Amino acid sequence: MASLKESKFSEERMHKGIQNGTSPGQWGRAWEVDWFSLASVILLLTFAPFLVYYFIMSCDQYHCSLTEPVIDLLMGNVRLSDIWSKTSSLSWKAANIYIIWVTFQVILYMIPDFCHKLLPGYVGGVQEGALTPAGTINKYEINGLQAWIITHALWLANVYYFHWFSPTIIFDNWIPLLWCTNILGYAISTFAIIKAYFFPTNANDCKFSGNFFYDYMMGVEFNPRLGKWFDFKLFFNGRPGIVAWTLINLSYAAKQQELYGQVTNSMILVNVLQGIYVLDFFWNEAWYLKTIDICHDHFGWYLGWGDCVWLPYLYTLQGLYLVYHPVQLSTANAVGILLLGLVGYYIFRMTNHQKDLFRRTDGNCKIWGKKPEYIECSYTSVDGTKYYSKLMTSGFWGVARHFNYTGDLMGCLAYCLTSGFDHILPYFYIIYMTILLVHRCIRDEHRCFSKYGKDWKRYTTAVPYRIIPGVF
Ligand code: NDP
Repeated sequence: MASLKESKFSEERMHKGIQNGTSPGQWGRAWEVDWFSLASVILLLTFAPFLVYYFIMSCDQYHCSLTEPVIDLLMGNVRLSDIWSKTSSLSWKAANIYIIWVTFQVILYMIPDFCHKLLPGYVGGVQEGALTPAGTINKYEINGLQAWIITHALWLANVYYFHWFSPTIIFDNWIPLLWCTNILGYAISTFAIIKAYFFPTNANDCKFSGNFFYDYMMGVEFNPRLGKWFDFKLFFNGRPGIVAWTLINLSYAAKQQELYGQVTNSMILVNVLQGIYVLDFFWNEAWYLKTIDICHDHFGWYLGWGDCVWLPYLYTLQGLYLVYHPVQLSTANAVGILLLGLVGYYIFRMTNHQKDLFRRTDGNCKIWGKKPEYIECSYTSVDGTKYYSKLMTSGFWGVARHFNYTGDLMGCLAYCLTSGFDHILPYFYIIYMTILLVHRCIRDEHRCFSKYGKDWKRYTTAVPYRIIPGVF
């Protein structure tokens, strides 16, 4: 509870800071939009959709080679129009599949959670988020696990009993579906900014930077909602993208079976390791309400389009690659990759769990069988009130300051290694996640330094490395 109070306070303090024009950096993103931020925003808005198209097209037309399309174009062997004309266009079938999919996920999102009654230890049902800058504590109906279970049970019932559609349906419509996801991604981002101007859920939680492109991308409203329960951030972050993640992988496995008469061990590994990560996300959805995505980011194109398009298309590249290149790993390599993935997952989960336990109990708990060690720290509000907090220096938090990111990255590397070393495309994920998490770590530490000052310095002296002990 102490940590909740403390986090409520820190949100409140930041809110006052923003209103007073002080401490603008504490929201974790630029308040004044400098030229670099603006250039990055415009670059991303312009090129990210093409990047996704390029990856998927190169699998479709060039067997997942990222260099061949460029070489072909430079050598004059093909023109852009040739590549485009070979690209499947939007179809009614894909549009229907996608409309049914999203509608089904909306319906599941609105059904109250019953999993928390059936599964001991699972925290679901109505849960509170962090205090927003306007002083609101939103309530969320946590039922992602239920949505995931129902969706996958129906998928399996279809495969083994009903046969309404082929289990390869996602792979078979992958490019037409790309247009559908883009339409939804842009529609929702555009709707979000119009809503922020004309009918915001909470006007005091809107943040206008003064630059339209920046606002469109990073979002204006903090927690846009329709009605009491339909929360854009929770819905789009988790569903339809993350529920779909494991179905997309199953569809790739089914395609391998159809094409080659067997599913390779590499494909099974991708399905199992990413399945664990997705299930963990839904099992811990209540914890997710306290992460940076929900507590600090506003809802714009970055989250809206990112969740609809970037996540389902680029987080699943290994499975897609394995359809075109069915890698059969030696037993030793398969076991090594499985171990790397499981150890990575264990570090990721335990590190997050240790901090959660430490903060929930205000340090009155056991970490690795002992009382946790920590640094007492303080921070002062804009009205001069002093508050106290603790930074743990034992357990995984004594190994490195963001060892949860280290575990996450080990898992990402394991997914990529399933694909062998013939092409760079499946390694995009580890490259992207490294950039994302290093940038996130720097952003977070900047925020912590402005919050804790010299106490944060004491902490970084006690735990000198960020992600890899002895290196960084
Ligand atoms: P963290 O869970 O690492 O939280 C960082 C915050 O924890 C700090 O701001 C500080 O907050 C507090 N803190 C820092 N050090 C300590 C300490 N020693 N003791 C106690 N509290 C401390 O941040 P994220 O939300 O970024 O990450 C959550 C998880 O989500 C990670 O495992 C990450 O890998 C994963 N993730 C996955 C992504 C994906 O796309 N797959 C994307 C992003 C994240 P305070 O102000 O309260 O002190």
